[in-house]
Amino acid sequence: MLPSGPTLRHVLVIGVDGVRFDLLGPEVTPVIWGFGSAGFLGPVVIDEATPTWSGPCWATIVTGTEVAGHGITANNLTGHRLADHPDFVTVATRAGLPTLLAVSGWPPLALAEDGGPLFAEASRREFVAVSEVSLAAWDAADDATATLAAGILAGDGPRLSFVYLGAVDIVGHVLGAGAAYREAARAADERVGRLLAAVRSRPGHAGEGWTVVVVTDHGHLDQGGHGGREPEVATAWAAAAGPGIEPGGPPLVTRQTQVAPLVLGALGR
Ligand SMILES: [Zn+2]
Repeated sequence: MLPSGPTLRHVLVIGVDGVRFDLLGPEVTPVIWGFGSAGFLGPVVIDEATPTWSGPCWATIVTGTEVAGHGITANNLTGHRLADHPDFVTVATRAGLPTLLAVSGWPPLALAEDGGPLFAEASRREFVAVSEVSLAAWDAADDATATLAAGILAGDGPRLSFVYLGAVDIVGHVLGAGAAYREAARAADERVGRLLAAVRSRPGHAGEGWTVVVVTDHGHLDQGGHGGREPEVATAWAAAAGPGIEPGGPPLVTRQTQVAPLVLGALGR
């Protein structure tokens, strides 16, 4: 008989950059929409003190502290206080758990560039560079990241993984929140589905207690862009399903600071 309880628990966090909450639905994002019935899916209003840029928003999400704690106010992370407020991957790594960081395209999350990395420590660190400045290259980087991460999830199955997809945000910046943006979100949703399928493919899946969290950092204006307090920009979202999360129940995350405690709590630490 397998041992049960916290020691077997696993968590996968998928960060999809810049996906508007009002874009989510059964047509464009059926996989993410499914979390609403398998677990919860709900809006997350970015707190007033956090600029609606990726740097501060992701920092709040992965550390569980606000700007006053982590000190990140822009996409250049220089001057951060992450040593005092480490990200959840680092916390799990330091606790001796096998972890994965898989990042598409945006260096300061994973590399020592622009004041990074946001994630200080991980057992395995994968960064897929964007080969050129183009939407096609971003799409390819996201796809390669999903493929790489899916292989690791199906194989080693780290106790905590963070996988970052960045193409949707870039499409929003270049083309606005129209048809191409929806198509990019559809592609990201399909990649989320591939990561979930990799988890489900594990022979020991049923006994591993997987919690899956999908989260965005901020939204976009109709014409593209963010940084202000417009509702379509300042309304992010989070979804999760797993042991202890009531299917179709109330959202357990309504603020960005609540993601990290949920993740670390789900690990059973
Ligand atoms: Zn952006």
